[in-house]
Amino acid sequence: MKKKEVNSSRIPVFRDAGFELYDASTTADAFRRETEHSREPDLYIYSRYRNPTVVSAEEEIMKLEDCKWALLTQSGMSAIDTALSIFHVGKETKPWLFFTEIYGGTISFVESVLKFRRGIDIQYFTPDSGIYDLEKLDEALSLLKPEVVYIETISNPMLIVADVENIILICKKYRARVIVDNTFATPLLYKPLAKGADVVIHSATKYFSGHGNLTAGVICGNENKIMQSCIEYRKIVGHTLSPDDAYRLQTQVQSFRLRFSRQCSNALKLAEFLNKIPIIEKVLYPGLKSHPTYPIAEKLFGGNGFGAMITFDFAGRDHNEKRNRRDNFIKLVSNDIKLIPTLGDPHTILMPVEAVWGAKYPEPGMIRLSIGFEEYSGLELTISKALDVVK
Ligand code: PLP
Repeated sequence: MKKKEVNSSRIPVFRDAGFELYDASTTADAFRRETEHSREPDLYIYSRYRNPTVVSAEEEIMKLEDCKWALLTQSGMSAIDTALSIFHVGKETKPWLFFTEIYGGTISFVESVLKFRRGIDIQYFTPDSGIYDLEKLDEALSLLKPEVVYIETISNPMLIVADVENIILICKKYRARVIVDNTFATPLLYKPLAKGADVVIHSATKYFSGHGNLTAGVICGNENKIMQSCIEYRKIVGHTLSPDDAYRLQTQVQSFRLRFSRQCSNALKLAEFLNKIPIIEKVLYPGLKSHPTYPIAEKLFGGNGFGAMITFDFAGRDHNEKRNRRDNFIKLVSNDIKLIPTLGDPHTILMPVEAVWGAKYPEPGMIRLSIGFEEYSGLELTISKALDVVK
């Protein structure tokens, strides 16, 4: 067995900007094979292109999503930019279709970059009463013939579960490429690539990193041509994740399954608890039978959980009473449950829906919870004490 220079069992943080290429022939070889995703030691050129610490973290994610390649970027948004931009071919670009229930930052990207700056013809597909009608989707695709369809497995903040499996089948009928943002579901609940999705993206800032201490994104797939285009685009625009963040992500992602399954079980228990509270008008959680997409969640997620996000709405005679209950609740739990605009953190955190989404979801009593992996009984106690006062 070849001995290493240091008997470390981990890939260290390689902070090199450029890597030593020794001579003209290694240099030519490395540049010729720039879009290969190999771990051969002499193929690294420059950290914006590819970096060994980043590749090592990518391999951890490939195991989770069960895919042939994964590429890390500096944020979920840069993963989204990369995954979409490779399908943009100037005036030749055919229309694209986006489901409306997707992350607000993605909608802003669609509106101000893809439509306004790049002039791409983009249409939206809207759910009816909290569920996507697949017959209507088929009709929309037959009329629009989009080249790209973009969906999220579980939406935010209404937690609508898209029937990704059947959506992919319909898209394939019309030869549309399917990009799935799988951030909320994670591969623990569902693996869209196994059902024929072309690209899966994640905000790795959330459950993969899981500690609210870095921002990262990842693009996953099986098709070599898509990978090469993504490597090229990521390099040109400089989206590659930093080696320091990759090192931390690689370490933290190893506990992903443990953390997320605990978060899902905490969430299910808490959703059932909240569902019995009289001053709570509705609880949106895909694991509750009352959620319009519960049957889809049950079919897709196969008993592995229903995610770790819960949205609930305070009852009230009018908007003022609902807002007062919401604000009192936020104040009363604030020592243990902080208002932090992210999700997937170790502790349960919250966001007031109306204050963030405004006109899209003008629900004055609504709160979105991102459930942590803390001990469940303490979490329920904090919430039940606050609810006793709020009423
Ligand atoms: N996708 C989803 C579903 C998100 O919730 C977010 C951010 O909240 C993003 C993508 C963007 O990720 P990032 O903030 O890491 O850029």
